[in-house]
Formats: sequence, C-alpha cells, structure tokens
Amino acid sequence: MHHFHYVEKKLHCEGVALETLARKFGTPLYVYSQRTLAEHFQKLDRAMAPVDHLVCFAVKSNSNLAVLRTLADEGSGFDIVSGGELARVIAAGGDARKCVFAGVGKTTSEIEFALRRGVYSFNVESEAELQRINAVAGRLKKIAPVALRVNPNVDAHTHAKITTGTYENKFGIAFEQVEAIYARAAKLKNLRLRGVQMHIGSQLTSVAPFEQAVRKVLPLVQRLQAKYALEFFSIGGGLGIVYDPALASGAANWWQTKAAKNILTPQKYATRLLPLLRPLGLKILMEPGRFISGNAGVLVTRVEYVKRTGKKNFLIVDAAMNDLIRPAFYDAHHEILPLTQKSGAIISSDVVGPICESGDYFCKDRPLPKLGEGDHLALLSAGAYGFVMASNYNTRPLAAEVLVNGRKAAGVRRRQTVKEILADEKIAPWAK
Ligand SMILES: *Cc1c(COP(=O)(O)O)cnc(C)c1O
Repeated sequence: MHHFHYVEKKLHCEGVALETLARKFGTPLYVYSQRTLAEHFQKLDRAMAPVDHLVCFAVKSNSNLAVLRTLADEGSGFDIVSGGELARVIAAGGDARKCVFAGVGKTTSEIEFALRRGVYSFNVESEAELQRINAVAGRLKKIAPVALRVNPNVDAHTHAKITTGTYENKFGIAFEQVEAIYARAAKLKNLRLRGVQMHIGSQLTSVAPFEQAVRKVLPLVQRLQAKYALEFFSIGGGLGIVYDPALASGAANWWQTKAAKNILTPQKYATRLLPLLRPLGLKILMEPGRFISGNAGVLVTRVEYVKRTGKKNFLIVDAAMNDLIRPAFYDAHHEILPLTQKSGAIISSDVVGPICESGDYFCKDRPLPKLGEGDHLALLSAGAYGFVMASNYNTRPLAAEVLVNGRKAAGVRRRQTVKEILADEKIAPWAK
C-alpha cells in the first residue's frame, strides 16, 4: 500500500506530479509520501491496540528529520542504534523517553548521552556491555533501564545479510545463557531490569518465524517476569514489504501466486501473535523500520544515455549505487516506472548508474518501455535503507530529499555540493 500512482499518465506522489519535483529539485531525488508513512504506522498501531504497546520506528531505515517528525506526531517511539540517531530524534521533536537503544557496540559517550536524555531502555547485546552501562550509570549517579536481547536461534528464512536471529550472527545473547546473565545483572546496583527484547531479521514475508520465535522465548519471558519486575517485551521489527508488485497482483507463476497469498499484513501478524502475547500482561514493543518507511519513498532519476550493445539495452541514469545500494548489496528488486507512462514497444533493459563498478545496476533484463535521454524514472520502495545508506563514492554528492503531503511538497534535505564534500579535507603540511 502506498500513494504513488499515475494520474493522466503522470506518476504522482499523493497530489504532486513527480516530474514537477524533478524539475524543481533536480535528480537524483528521494521523494517521501507523508500519508503513506502515517498510514503504515496507524495500521500497525491499530492492529496491536488490544494490548498495551508502543511502536518504535527503526530510525536506521530512514532518519530524515521530517520523516521522524511525521512519526513522532503520530505518537511513535523510536528504535535507535547510535548517539547520532538519538540526536536526530531529539532534533525532530521526538521523545527520548520513548527510545530504545539497540546495537552491539555502544560506546561510553553514547551510553552517557542516552542516560542523560533518559531513554526508555538500553537493549543490551553482551555481558560486557551490561558491565559498562552499570559503570557509566554509577558515575552519573543514575539508574540505567536495560533489557537483554535474546537470540532465539530461529532461522528467519530471509537474505543472509539481514538475518540476525541465529547463532551465526553477532546479535543478541544466546537463549541458553540469558537467565544466568539476568541473575548477574540483577546484582548490579545501577541497573534496572526493565524488559526482554528480540529481533530475528529483516524483510520477513511470513508470520511463521515470528510466531516460532515468540513461542520459543515466551516461557523464558514468563520466568524472568516472575523474578524481576519487568515492564516490556519487545518482539523487534522485520515485517517485510512487497517490492515486486507482480507478487501482489498474482499472475506470473505458481510460486509467485503462492508468495502473494502469504504477504504479511499487520492484521495477520497481530492475529497470530496477540493470543500468545496478551496473557503476559507486559507492554509489547515493536521496532518496525521497513514496514513503515519502505514503500513510502521513491528515488527519481534521469536517463542520461541509452547505450545499445550487441546483446543489451542499457539505460544509463544519474542515480547510482552510492544513492541506493540495495540492489548491489542485497540483490534487491526495485520496481522501476517511467514518470510519464508510455505505450508501445517493450524492451528488455538494464538500468545502470555511472559508477565504475559492475555491481552498479538497478535491474537487469527488465521489460521496460522505450526510453530516451531526458526521460525520468522512479525506483519504487526506496524509502527504507535508501538515502540512509548513501555515500560519497566517486565523489558524488548526496541526493536531495522531498516530503509530500497532499498537494504540498517541501525540500527536507538540500542536495549536497562537491564543495561541501571537499571542505573537511586538506593536503598534508609536508607536501611540496
Ligand atoms: C534493523 C532493526 C530493526 C528494524 O528492521 P526492519 O526490518 O526495518 O523492520 C528493528 N530492531 C532492530 C534491533 C534492528 O537492528
């Protein structure tokens, strides 16, 4: 579900034609739909309404201040993984007391900052980290709220680079060790044991692995709850989205149709998990990133050249893997649509960027209409793990970002300049 649709052959974000934005702000350009962000949040929030809960948006998926503000205004909490992300939440007007701080490598200064700002919980990933948080809290004369991240050792059946819930991964504390570590943590004077957390992976397209993990961890949560006055159980993020609409509209072949029927919705998620979670009487936290932001953003790019080799039709565009790395990094599929709908011939095309890497492509052998220099394309579902993973590789400035609300559009990040990229560098003083 999202608000990017053709109106009279022009691709719109809500009430604004993307071509208008491309002309005004230039390309490559990220465009986000505020309504899509809000509606995704609300869908999940409503589905979980039967239990006391807090949806904590995973800031790492899209950390633009305007996006964070949109979600803060909806009442969202935030899942942060660095001091920088906490600073963003605060700058956006979000509430630090609704933040959970995840990540395997929190530094002393990050812990201090989060303690001073009063985050809701540190989601702790090792015993050494627990010791460190206890020591920092002692020094600041504060009590640090903590939860241990349990690694349930459940295979999420997702891409290897985004699975986190097995013992092959660096994340969490092994299921078998958790109780002993809680017992030792309970003796540390500057900690308050506030909850239990887990997160098994990203882009999960069925509810089965979530259910399997919850069922496995539940007895442990109940035992810990009985011993320590726990307040919450976080079941993490990871709800997948539809990247390839061929899957959603059925059709192509039997396995795609099968996948389409299994598409994960907040309703399915809640229906299967709530009966397990409700009897606990704990506050339930969720940490969705992609589910909220993924389909709420597109990357708009311009065709610079069309290059035909003996075998291939290449559309060389002005966006590249430094702007959107998902195809190169995760073999990800992004739907690609021309901003002006075309009829006529369909040509099997590769859409590629200008970077000197053969991994710099957005699709291969994709049936696309005949396009020429100056035409614009939108890469859909680029709202999560898109701009946040952008880099200056090849000294390419970071793209601009725009937020749309109905017929209104606002630049929410100015395009970076080459001058800004160079500003922090200098020649070594001994150079001739
Ligand atoms: C990345 C991450 C999330 C969000 O994952 P999505 O797949 O975007 O929902 C949530 N919790 C933790 C601990 C994470 O590392």
